[in-house]
Amino acid sequence: MPDRYAVIGNPVSHSKSPWIHARFARALGEDIEYGAIEAPPQGFVAAVEKFRAAGGKGLNVTLPFKGEAFRYCAGTSARAAAAQAVNTLLLERGAPFGDNTDGVGLVRDLTVNLQRSLRGAQVLLLGAGGAAQGVLGPLAQEAPAAIVIANRTLPRAAALAARVPGAFACGFDGLAGRGFDLVVNATSAGLSGELPPLPRGLFLPGALAYDMVYGRDTEFLAMARAAGVAARDGTGMLVEQAAESFLLWRGRRPETRAVLAELCAR
Ligand code: NAP
Repeated sequence: MPDRYAVIGNPVSHSKSPWIHARFARALGEDIEYGAIEAPPQGFVAAVEKFRAAGGKGLNVTLPFKGEAFRYCAGTSARAAAAQAVNTLLLERGAPFGDNTDGVGLVRDLTVNLQRSLRGAQVLLLGAGGAAQGVLGPLAQEAPAAIVIANRTLPRAAALAARVPGAFACGFDGLAGRGFDLVVNATSAGLSGELPPLPRGLFLPGALAYDMVYGRDTEFLAMARAAGVAARDGTGMLVEQAAESFLLWRGRRPETRAVLAELCAR
């Protein structure tokens, strides 16, 4: 019997995680089965317990359950505790253990795949939801000159900024007159074809615009291209965070380059 893993979320049918983990397992000769579980909004814990009782060894957690997954865990990694959000569950150690690989996934895509150093950079993080929570700490560890968090709901940005010394929070209107080397869109606005109301002149020369939404050309990416700067979607982050989850579960980190290239070409 192969060891069983899955991604759990709602909705989850669009998820590329089963495809990515199947590629990783094949490349490393690991005998695993990786599925997708769509849990009802109030049914996260019941669905996890059912999977665990049937011998499931680990789960990736996606929208909207990352906060609930954090509260469900008996123990977490330091980075999941800092994020207060869990995207990777280990279920075979007795009590459920949670980790968060979103931040390391984003930083690896930026610094390794895209060859961007964040040291001394002006960084803007748009959004203050689960994804922004997961990446803020790892971004700050790359020693940027400044991190600004802008969100539609200002108190959420302020609460997030309070976790990292020197981070600054504002609404979108507070961005006027500022320029950035890296703008990470961690809002879900692109999923509904929307664009946060961003001022002109946001991108410094040579800047990178990064939208965590993947697999679609968002208004944010179009705006960046119109401004003449490099624009990337979140496919690389998706593959890198998956590789980090695979490492936690199986003790081996898969090679990501070929999987990312194949996914981008699909
Ligand atoms: P979330 O917890 O629901 O947070 C959504 C965020 O988007 C909040 O900050 C929300 O602002 C903001 N927002 C939503 N609609 C908006 C709009 N029309 N204008 C401005 N702001 C808007 O979601 P999440 O878990 O953080 O995920 C965010 C996105 O990242 C999703 O699209 C997800 O697919 C993507 N993601 C990608 C990866 C990857 O590996 N590539 C990993 C994680 C997440 P308020 O606080 O004002 O509501």
